[in-house]
Amino acid sequence: MARIVAKFGGTSVGDLDRIRAVAARVAEMAAEGHQLAVVVSAMAGTTDRLVGYVEGITIKTDRDIGVSADPHEYDTVVSAGEQVSAGLTALALQDLGLKARSFTGWQAGVMTDGVHGRARIKAIDAAALEKELQNGVIPVLAGFQGVGPDGRITTLGRGGTDTSAVALAAAIKADRCDIFTDVDGVYTADPRIVPKAHKLDKITYEEMLEMASVGARVLQTRSVEAAMNGGVTLQVLSSFNRTAGTMVVAEDQIAEQGVVSGLAHTRDEAKIALQGVSDQPGVAAAVFGPLADADINVDMIVQSASPNGERADITFTVSRADLNKATAVIEKIRASLDIENVYTDAEVAKISVIGVGMRSHAGVAKTMFSVLAEQGINIQVISTSEIKVSVLVAEEFVERALTSLHTAYGLDAN
Ligand code: ASP
Ligand code: MG
Repeated sequence: MARIVAKFGGTSVGDLDRIRAVAARVAEMAAEGHQLAVVVSAMAGTTDRLVGYVEGITIKTDRDIGVSADPHEYDTVVSAGEQVSAGLTALALQDLGLKARSFTGWQAGVMTDGVHGRARIKAIDAAALEKELQNGVIPVLAGFQGVGPDGRITTLGRGGTDTSAVALAAAIKADRCDIFTDVDGVYTADPRIVPKAHKLDKITYEEMLEMASVGARVLQTRSVEAAMNGGVTLQVLSSFNRTAGTMVVAEDQIAEQGVVSGLAHTRDEAKIALQGVSDQPGVAAAVFGPLADADINVDMIVQSASPNGERADITFTVSRADLNKATAVIEKIRASLDIENVYTDAEVAKISVIGVGMRSHAGVAKTMFSVLAEQGINIQVISTSEIKVSVLVAEEFVERALTSLHTAYGLDAN
C-alpha cells in the first residue's frame, strides 16, 4: 500500500461526467489499497474566465505598462475555480460511497509568501489533512491557492496546481505524486509535430525542468523544482486511459541514460536586435537594467563586437507577450545609448536539445549545428546550459528542425 497524492488538471475535471470519472479512478486506486489525497485544478476554461472578469472590472488596467488590478482581489477572484472543483470532486467521491471532504488552501494550511498572483509555498501545516487521512477520509485539496502572511488568499501562478500537489506530497511524505493530465506522459518531442516521438518511461528532474521551461507545458516549472528539492517521485499520466505514464526521478534511478533525452521547442519568443550600440563599459547594464525594472524576462542574449571596437550589436529574446513592452523600453533608452537600428522579429522559435548525458559526452552541439546546416536552417542565436543546447530559428522551420534532429539523435520510435 502506498500513500499517493493524485492531481487532476482542468481538462480532467472539465465537466460533471469527467469529475465522476475522476472519482471512479480515485475509488479504484483506493480499492487497490492505496491511501489517497486528491488535488484538483479549476474546471477547464474557468480560470481564464475569472481572469477575464478581473480585467473587465478594472477600467484602468493597462497591461502594457504593468498597471493592473489590486493583486489581493485578483487572487480572491481567480482562486475561486478550484474551490468549486474540489467540492464537486468530494461530492462525486461520496456518491461512490467513499468518505471525502474538500479543503481550500487556507483550510489545508498551505502557507505562502505575499507575492500575490505568483506566490511561493513556504510550508504546509498538514495536521488537519493528516487527521482525515488517518480516519480513512480522502481529502480533496483546491490547488493553485494558499494563504499569505497577511491572512489573505494567494495564488501560485498559472498552472500552480501542479506545485500544490508536489508540496502536499512532500508535506505528507507521500510515496508518489501522480499528475493526471490530458497527455499520457512526457514525449521525446511534441508528438503533434514529430510523429515518431515516443513516450519516455523515465526522465530526470533536471531534464524535466529544462523541458518545462522551454515549452513542454506538461508541468509547471516550479512543481519540478519543488519535486527535485523535496525528493518527490512524480508520475505524469493520462486521466483518460490506463497506460503507464512517465516517471520524473533522480538521475541515479535511471539505469540506461541516453545522451539526448528529448527535444523541446517554444514559439513563445520574440527577438530584438540592437545594431550599432556604442561599445563601452556599462552598455549591457544600460539595456538590460531597464528591461528588468519593467519586469521583462530576457532569455537568450548574444553580443558581437564590430571590428573597430566602437560599436557592438546586441541581440536578445523576450517572451512574445512582452515584445511591445520591451520595444517601448528600448525606444526610451535608444537616444542615450546612440543605438543605430532596432529590429524586432516575432516569427522565431527556440529549439532545444536536452539530456543529462551531455555532461559526459561531447559532440551534441556539433550534431545539432550540422543537422540544421544540412537542412538549410539558419541559426540566429545560440545558448547553452550544462544539459541543454538551444537555438533560435525562423518559426517556419520548427517542424523540419525537430524531425531531422529527432532522427539524428536516434530518438525515432521504431
Ligand atoms: N486553474 C489554474 C490555472 O489555470 C491552476 C492550474 O490549473 O494549475 O492556471
Ligand atoms: Mg497544467
